[in-house]
Amino acid sequence: MAVTFQNLTRANEIGANSYYLGFEKNGLLLDAGVHPKIEGALSKPVLERIQHKDVHALLLSHCHLDHVGALPIAAHQHPEMEILMTMPSHHLIDRILHNSVNIMVKQREELNLVEYPFFTHSEVDRLAGRYTPVPFRRPVPLDWRSGDHTAVSFYEAGHIQGAAGILVEHDGKKIFYTGDVNFRDQKITRHARFPEEPVDVLIAETTRGGKEVSPDWSWENEQRRLGAAIREVFERGGSVLIPIFALGKTQEMLFMVWEMMQEGVIPRQNVSIGGLGSTFTSIHDQLASQSPRLHPEFKFRQELEIDVLEYEKARDIPIGAGRLMLISAGMMTPQTSSYILGARMLHHPLHGIFFVGYCDPDSPAAQILRTPPMGEVRLDPQGPLLQRKCRVEHFDFSSHCNRDEMIGYMKIARPKTVFLVHGDLNALRWFEEKLKGELPDARVIIPEPGREYEI
Ligand SMILES: [Zn+2]
Repeated sequence: MAVTFQNLTRANEIGANSYYLGFEKNGLLLDAGVHPKIEGALSKPVLERIQHKDVHALLLSHCHLDHVGALPIAAHQHPEMEILMTMPSHHLIDRILHNSVNIMVKQREELNLVEYPFFTHSEVDRLAGRYTPVPFRRPVPLDWRSGDHTAVSFYEAGHIQGAAGILVEHDGKKIFYTGDVNFRDQKITRHARFPEEPVDVLIAETTRGGKEVSPDWSWENEQRRLGAAIREVFERGGSVLIPIFALGKTQEMLFMVWEMMQEGVIPRQNVSIGGLGSTFTSIHDQLASQSPRLHPEFKFRQELEIDVLEYEKARDIPIGAGRLMLISAGMMTPQTSSYILGARMLHHPLHGIFFVGYCDPDSPAAQILRTPPMGEVRLDPQGPLLQRKCRVEHFDFSSHCNRDEMIGYMKIARPKTVFLVHGDLNALRWFEEKLKGELPDARVIIPEPGREYEI
């Protein structure tokens, strides 16, 4: 029986994620995200491609916006569609989508984007009744109207709380979607535990395909470097801003900061985080013993003095000496707290701005990183020219696996067909080339957007 795969994104890149698996009488949607770097209509995947197809269920890998941000649009388009996700994702999704409405409403005004918001708060509220949380590693049979035998299982993907790789078993065929994956332990997120039996089809993320694996890179080494940098700034009387993603990286970094305090690398003190980061930190505490993670007994609110810095305060809060701020957005996108604070701190030689995650080359974060000490930078076209006098560093705390680890997993899964997704062109090409040697019999495909591939 023919099964088809269709890439619903607009380009082969690190952008929105959404893929369609078509079966004879029905289909499944894998994620429905928005492009993190694009505003407006072009940030959406092309869901119109499946408008007239049956979609039995949407299977959500995790709650980052590039995987979940267009979910309400897909749900509106397919009112019968079930929506399956892991239990931690079920606790996170509401806050993510409501926050997304808030951002779109703000951008509608500021950027004059009349198509925003794509959905409203009440639509998000109404969706809640359609979510089905599913346990990890237990096959869930899908009740096809057609009577086909299909089951889906969610496997821990290690990337952030609740993240999953998704196995679809259909008439004896195994199709596995990695979502975003990390095969190593982070600070509190436990490593991925993917199926170890061979699969027929693998849909694999390739985020780090363009990045050579350095033998001396590790979170531990980066943590030592970061600890020394924070300490240096504090000792000369400055404050530290760490622009950061609210979900995932904020909690990993908070744990790291706690360890630094325990070890005496930095003094015991308050840590400021953003409002959304605070919400997700509370959810981490709430689910500590129920979701797959390390240190389930550790509660952020008990172990750390956390204060919340709301967006409205970012403009005039005194920065002074010795403040440690873990504030979103991670790439210092304009109109976020980290952007406002960063612009205030950049021209003060005592302070430090430390980036800890991926920085898109066009983002304000990358622009600051490219600016030499005492050089000038304009963070957005309407903004003033700023001089970079503070200390700026980039640390690599990726929550994705490196490319060699992904190849290692591919050799365990031994797929007959591999679809390479969620990577920039050079990353995709690296995997394509590498797999010629590592899996010579596999059909390796960089799926052209919109094209249907029979599998
Ligand atoms: Zn992600």
